[in-house]
Amino acid sequence: MRRVVRIFFCLPLLAAALPDTPAATPQEVLTKIRANDFQAEGIPVKGLVLDLGMGELELTDGRLYVLGGYEQTSIEAVFIGHGALRFTPPDDVEAGQLELFTGARELDESITEISFATTSDFVVAAIRSRESDGSVDLEQEQRARERAAKWIAGYERELLGVEVALLHDAIADPVYDGFFAATVRGEDLEDFLLSVDPSAAEPVTLGQFVRLEMTEKEERRGRKALHKAQKKGRFIGVELEELGTFDTWVSSHLVDTDGVTFGGTPGFTPRHYEMAVDITREGRIDVTCKINLESLSGLHKSIAFELDSDLVVKAVVDASGNALFHYQVGDEFWVFLEQPVPADQPYEIEIRYAGLALTKVIAKAYTLRNPTGWYPRIGLSDLATYDVSFMPPPNYDLVASGKAVSKSRFRFDQPVGYFSFEMGDYDIEYFNVGDAVRVTIAWDKVAKKSGDDLEGLIKSVLGDVLSYYDKTLGDYPFDFLTVVTVPRDYAQSLPGFITLPSSITSGLNIFQQFYVTDPRMIIAHELAHQWWGHIVMFDSYRDQWISEAMASYSASAWVHASIAPEYRPTVDLTSGWWVSLNARTASQRTVDSLGPLVLGARLDSSHYAAYLPIVYKKGAVVLNTLAEAFGEENFLKVLNKIIEHSRGKVVSTDALLQMVERVTGQDLAWFRDRYIYGTGIPKVYYSYTLSEVDAGKWNVRVDLEQEAPFIRRYKLVRVDSVWDFEISTESMFDTDETILAIPVQIRVKEKEDKEAKQKKHKSASEVITELARVMAGEATSDEKLAEGMIVFRGTADTVDFDLPFEPAAVWLDRRSDVYGRFYDASRWPRYTLTRKAFAAENAGDYDKAARLYEKAIEAEYYVPIDPDDYDADDDKDDSESAAVAARVLLAEMYLRSGDHDLAAIQLDKVEAKPKKYRRVYREEIEVARSRIDLGSGDYSAIVERLRKRLRGRDRMRSIEGYAVLAVAAHEIGDDEIYKKAAKMAEKNGVDIDALQELRD
Ligand SMILES: [Zn+2]
Repeated sequence: MRRVVRIFFCLPLLAAALPDTPAATPQEVLTKIRANDFQAEGIPVKGLVLDLGMGELELTDGRLYVLGGYEQTSIEAVFIGHGALRFTPPDDVEAGQLELFTGARELDESITEISFATTSDFVVAAIRSRESDGSVDLEQEQRARERAAKWIAGYERELLGVEVALLHDAIADPVYDGFFAATVRGEDLEDFLLSVDPSAAEPVTLGQFVRLEMTEKEERRGRKALHKAQKKGRFIGVELEELGTFDTWVSSHLVDTDGVTFGGTPGFTPRHYEMAVDITREGRIDVTCKINLESLSGLHKSIAFELDSDLVVKAVVDASGNALFHYQVGDEFWVFLEQPVPADQPYEIEIRYAGLALTKVIAKAYTLRNPTGWYPRIGLSDLATYDVSFMPPPNYDLVASGKAVSKSRFRFDQPVGYFSFEMGDYDIEYFNVGDAVRVTIAWDKVAKKSGDDLEGLIKSVLGDVLSYYDKTLGDYPFDFLTVVTVPRDYAQSLPGFITLPSSITSGLNIFQQFYVTDPRMIIAHELAHQWWGHIVMFDSYRDQWISEAMASYSASAWVHASIAPEYRPTVDLTSGWWVSLNARTASQRTVDSLGPLVLGARLDSSHYAAYLPIVYKKGAVVLNTLAEAFGEENFLKVLNKIIEHSRGKVVSTDALLQMVERVTGQDLAWFRDRYIYGTGIPKVYYSYTLSEVDAGKWNVRVDLEQEAPFIRRYKLVRVDSVWDFEISTESMFDTDETILAIPVQIRVKEKEDKEAKQKKHKSASEVITELARVMAGEATSDEKLAEGMIVFRGTADTVDFDLPFEPAAVWLDRRSDVYGRFYDASRWPRYTLTRKAFAAENAGDYDKAARLYEKAIEAEYYVPIDPDDYDADDDKDDSESAAVAARVLLAEMYLRSGDHDLAAIQLDKVEAKPKKYRRVYREEIEVARSRIDLGSGDYSAIVERLRKRLRGRDRMRSIEGYAVLAVAAHEIGDDEIYKKAAKMAEKNGVDIDALQELRD
């Protein structure tokens, strides 16, 4: 019997139907919730299905053990038995994430245990009305006890917000009705979390908390360090077990039966803050914070705030001085109200809190540890006015957001999103930009100490950038700007208030030698946030990329408009973007492929810390790609219009793209699908011919071809007792639909300049010195280049254009300005042919592929434009390695086409090469050899060869390799290796059903 209980569609609007507030106070409720008592007599359950909207949780057969809850309104329980969780993500982006973490785009997982809490009236009633049948199963009961103990003590329950939800529900706050949170033990996926939290902006979450892997020694050390920090008032409430990463597999709105999506919204928004902040020399703050709020929903019975977890809320009172109950956990706290406040009504509270907020770096030099989390906030885009008085210790300076009313009091009379401060011993300077903006710069002790004097440069850049943005992006919103240097390793921009790292005043040479971003770029990026982030705001983590990408784009526009090419920063905000995005994760994925821009902070996962490379670098380059299509001047006009239209508003990714479409009249579907919601770096191969068409008139003809990005899928098959793989290739998107605007650089042919030709080789230190001279404006580049733009549509195209001068050489996107990689086939023949062979292989044309691979191996590695300046010996190692790579690919292709003998011949040839050329391909070679052994049934050779690659530094990247090892381990009966290898293969999406079915 299947009993479907639909639990998740209780909208907060149903509040009127709820019973009156029970008499219990929140404190009493909390005591009851915490008094968990495990009820040993289990309730038999059969065929109970909980509808999740996008899926269902089925408790097929087993027992439920109740361990708590609050009277008739909520329940916490453990289920032991058999069941299944089926889940279909709402869109491609979420399906892609589910696949990244579980190996499949939909979830259909057998489950054996669940611990859960719910406030769903239906589920609570369904469970509470059932009774034990009196039978006893001691083994099951023991498992249930263990699971219950783990649930109560574990971090996941806190992460899921169980206590908060139960507490709210018990006092009849409708916002938490329909809450369901669980840790689910899957057969393959182990423990993962499932949560439907109607109070959250995206209520549905599936994911897994991945603990930091630590050795015993690391753990001991960690515990000690944590203990030490906690004695100083930091990391309060953090336990070592909690350190790790939360992988979000799926996050989504709720979707009701009519397809309407909804999620939780904040019940209140702050309108005005009045704060008195006492600060000690140790960096502790003691704050009295009065907030005038506005009720938005009229339903919420609590106000949810965010506050750094090291700051402890001591008391909360309402306007009449009545104490209000508050509940603090992690970075959040809730203030409970006696009654909901009617919508649109004002409400005033006073919060007193204290704790360590500043870190002392050296005497009289501090950093505010959490510049936006040091005071209670509600949302990402609160708009409020501020009046803040500070009481620093005697002889300390204070700088803060807003306008200085006195040395220690600062006000913001126009609503802004953030307020912050810094304390130290500053040298303070003032200057004006135009007649409208007064700039205050506070240099801290660390910045003042550093040797080289860049203070002058910083001041002039600040003034210059501010007036440039004022003209291009629109009016700067304040009549002041405060800039302070802080001994911290990042810069930050808050409304009218910018912090720069103290190191920014050190010499240019340092920036060049260590490839640190040019200080001018840092300033230009942070200043741009006054427009992108503070004038135009972004509400969700999914839109965060816009603010970073726009800030970086605006900064580069300033560079183009204000700095001559030869003096431009050599290390800017997107330098090396393609190296960062093409880097490989442990599971052999490129960083770019981990997810699109719109995933924001979720890009940092147990796979890789991909937020910085994707949101910052890809974001900026992608925007530049769009700008190239319109031309910079036009694009800036578009941006100006967008800002004008969006002042003080919250903008989403889709709204932004629609605005660009409206202003330009262009359809941006190609851009949205490929760059914003898609992954993959376009790869284009080109070749060109130059010909004189008339006296002094030259024609350039460029042939372009785009490589289609694809995903390979592996399926293990068994035919006549022989194991093999079916490899299929799936295209990630249709390259026929794409449009790429590509910058072109053309070298102008000049008369031979013998002297310039002679000095060709430069030592590294000469290069650095020269870069520093270029930055200081002393040197110039000696190459004469003309620039242009071509538009490339579809998969293959030919573009030609005329020039009024004789060209010597042509490059596409030589500076890597747009999101794509462009390879000159005539300059890089071996690489280009290898890629073409690979493409032919993916298209299933193995004969053509084999010919192309052979051709690639014979081809030249690099053909220089200036043969006189090139010594092929310098590239010998790279060239040989590239030939080995092509041969390994050829061997893999033969494996795929079933010609194992031909594959073996290629591998023999590879192994005849000196070790240094094939070292990087060792794993590929081992896996290919193992594939051959798989065909001939030599399983022990496979296990022997690959077992060491299950862990440690030699851990395999090849997902196919794990599947091969799983088969071999199965065949020789090594269960331990089988389990590990099969798990990795499956997690990475290899279809090993054939093997699993055989074992079942
Ligand atoms: Zn930024």
